[in-house]
Amino acid sequence: MSVPSDVLPAGAVTVEDTVVPACAPWSARVAQGHHLRLIDLEGQQAIDFLCFNADDPAERYHAANTIKIPCQLYLGQGSVLRSSLARPMMTIVEDSCGGHDTIFGCCSFEVDEVRYGATNPECCQRNFERELAEHGLGPEHIVANVNFFMNVPVKPDGHTAITVSQSKPGDYVDLRADMDVLAVFSNCPEALNAATGAGPSPVRAIVYQPGG
Ligand SMILES: [Zn+2]
Repeated sequence: MSVPSDVLPAGAVTVEDTVVPACAPWSARVAQGHHLRLIDLEGQQAIDFLCFNADDPAERYHAANTIKIPCQLYLGQGSVLRSSLARPMMTIVEDSCGGHDTIFGCCSFEVDEVRYGATNPECCQRNFERELAEHGLGPEHIVANVNFFMNVPVKPDGHTAITVSQSKPGDYVDLRADMDVLAVFSNCPEALNAATGAGPSPVRAIVYQPGG
């Protein structure tokens, strides 16, 4: 199925196109050379993202390797998501937002209880656990994740916090798979801080084969 050229590059062939409801998880196998486009439909919606080598999930996204090789804390166009073996897993080939977080990990009932003395009805930790279970993976596979469309500035004195996202409605990141990956995300349910702007909202995930 071809999709409108105003959404994807000309000639692209859609493999999967899903509007992921607020607070829900999503996953798909993305073949090497295919792309995953994540669209923040309403803006300011954090997407907690992990990826694994589809054939050997012991090799997985590794935040520190992703940060230390380019010496860059934030992800944007051209950034490479590196594995635990320092290999490229996915490359951000297009990005209309920039400044994606690498350090804050995901929300959980436990950490929200400590931070806020309250919890949300859902959390990214549980979303990850549920979605990974679909692929035979357990909680031990959850590591520090990427937070697309989440703004976590770090001040010179080291202070850091989630602040209002710069993401606007329709902003997107486009990731090329550099190996066959299992991509997993939680559409963040966090309503106790700025991770989801005015509140959790839907996002769109498109897996496609580029044209040409
Ligand atoms: Zn979350």
